[in-house]
Amino acid sequence: MQEATAQVANHANPCSMWILQGTTGTRKTADTGVQKAGEYLHYGCCQDVALWFLDKDRTTDYNNLGFADTLHLASSQIISTCYHASKTKNGFARDAWVNFFYDIYDTFTMNKKKQIQIIGGGLAGCEAAWQVARRGCAVCLYDMKPHRFSPAHHSPLLAEMVCSNSLRSNAQNSAVGLLKEEMRRLNSLVMRVATETAVPAGKALAVNRELFSQAITECLERHPLIEIIHQEQTEIPAPANTPIILATGPLTSEAMTEALVQLTGRDRLAFYDAIAPIVHSESLDMNIVYLKSRYDDGPGDYLNCPMNKEEYLAFIAALKSADTVPLKDFEDVKYFEGCLPIEVMVARGDNTLRFGPMKPVGLDDPRTGRWPYAVVQLRKENRQGSLYNLVGFQTKLTYSEQNRIFRMIPGMTQADFARLGSIHRNTFVCAPELLEPTLQLKSRPDLFLAGQLSGVEGYVESTAMGLLAGINASRMMTGRPLVIPPPETAHGALITHLTQSDPKHFQPSNVNFGLFPEWNEGDKQEQKTAKISKALRGELRASTALAALTQWQDEHELQ
Ligand SMILES: Cc1cc2nc3c(=O)[nH]c(=O)nc-3n(C[C@H](O)[C@H](O)[C@H](O)COP(=O)(O)OP(=O)(O)OC[C@H]3O[C@@H](n4cnc5c(N)ncnc54)[C@H](O)[C@@H]3O)c2cc1C
Repeated sequence: MQEATAQVANHANPCSMWILQGTTGTRKTADTGVQKAGEYLHYGCCQDVALWFLDKDRTTDYNNLGFADTLHLASSQIISTCYHASKTKNGFARDAWVNFFYDIYDTFTMNKKKQIQIIGGGLAGCEAAWQVARRGCAVCLYDMKPHRFSPAHHSPLLAEMVCSNSLRSNAQNSAVGLLKEEMRRLNSLVMRVATETAVPAGKALAVNRELFSQAITECLERHPLIEIIHQEQTEIPAPANTPIILATGPLTSEAMTEALVQLTGRDRLAFYDAIAPIVHSESLDMNIVYLKSRYDDGPGDYLNCPMNKEEYLAFIAALKSADTVPLKDFEDVKYFEGCLPIEVMVARGDNTLRFGPMKPVGLDDPRTGRWPYAVVQLRKENRQGSLYNLVGFQTKLTYSEQNRIFRMIPGMTQADFARLGSIHRNTFVCAPELLEPTLQLKSRPDLFLAGQLSGVEGYVESTAMGLLAGINASRMMTGRPLVIPPPETAHGALITHLTQSDPKHFQPSNVNFGLFPEWNEGDKQEQKTAKISKALRGELRASTALAALTQWQDEHELQ
């Protein structure tokens, strides 16, 4: 008994949970214990299990059966298969066992009293809850469904995918595939369940959305450290000594939006994203595109794609007949005059763009020494200048039309788009002003933002921010230093986008390699000389990222 107690007490891994099966009862009771342990392990509630039998015969039984087989486990998951306390004439050391059990029980109930509150049970909130609970901290997860639904949510289940059932590419040499692999290595619940409920979709990871949400909901419901409350939260809880994670998503309820406005200020919270396309600068033809700011004597900061009259009129004609994405019922967008979609501007007249975002004045083309007829201006999207934004080109054109029409722009015939334009109903904060790289709100370090609300775009990216917020909230709860993923990783690249973008032009982003640190000069030169393919460059990114991730995990014990 003492030996068992000492082993449990000395067990340093804070992520583990110990199932103590002190049964002296029937074989059936013992079976229930073993089954429960198996379930906990299967759902990843704990990493290792100590099964503890006080009855010698039972111990022998199970040893003979083999724990690993009974639990369908790799034996490495069971660090301590069996403790055996011998019987004495007065029964076994019952007092010691009871006391010990109560100690453990107290630890769990104390943890339960100190719950980390997570508001929003979407992809980000569910992943955060999982990450918190698997680190031994208790969670109270709030979701307003099924009492209230946002206009896009319909299922009563948690982790609902509101539109497509695809989590995009699974290939590790794509940025989103790399992000997934990093999440798998960080024990993401969403990634595990997505794989379990996948449907055939070529290189993409797509899921059966019903089974996916159901499995996640069940997994969280069964977790002993997670309590789920179906209730709308209308306020952000006041600071207390337990962290809070806010993950109410792009369609956060009105009351919570108002609470956020009070906290952040109206001008730091957006209600729509008006996204202009972003292009990888290396895909531009620099024999045509030139660097210049309006009326600047020097080279300036903007890249300019010059158009003559013929090219401009062909471009306008293409825009006029292009297909657009229809508005959803709840997207009764009242556009701001300063932020109109290009197709709306074109509908007002052929010259509207030429006197608006495509104005050529003060932008002498160095090849002619004159202003072109019209200009598409590109503004740096990141410090390293690997990505450029098409200024004023927010649009609701379909993606295929954007790919076709924007490649008509001189200098962009081979354009490789990191992101295409869109206009959506979306609630998100101005992350570069408000967030720490740990996802804490600068003004409220106990409050973490996760998911789309934090300023990323997409299912996988939202989930990844839930994963990081969950790790950091649990570390705060247990008095451990908070962590920031290395910038070479896909997680780190998203954090860089959130915290180091220009706040004046901040818009949510999908993960893409343009957000990653610039290659060093040596690598760049080598790649140019070797003319390596995009896929191979993706592989290089992935191997650098995964090595950095492993080191980071080792340094901070992030299993
Ligand atoms: C219409 C639409 C379509 C989209 N389609 C795609 C797509 O196809 N592919 C893609 O990658 N991304 C898509 N996105 C973008 C985005 O990635 C997803 O919305 C993603 O689900 C965001 O995850 P999340 O956890 O941040 O928010 P959500 O998944 O929306 O979860 C938020 C949860 O919070 C709950 N909630 C809200 N307010 C409260 C409150 N006050 N109290 C308690 N609970 C509350 C909601 O019920 C919801 O369950 C879409 C977004 C929208 C709006």
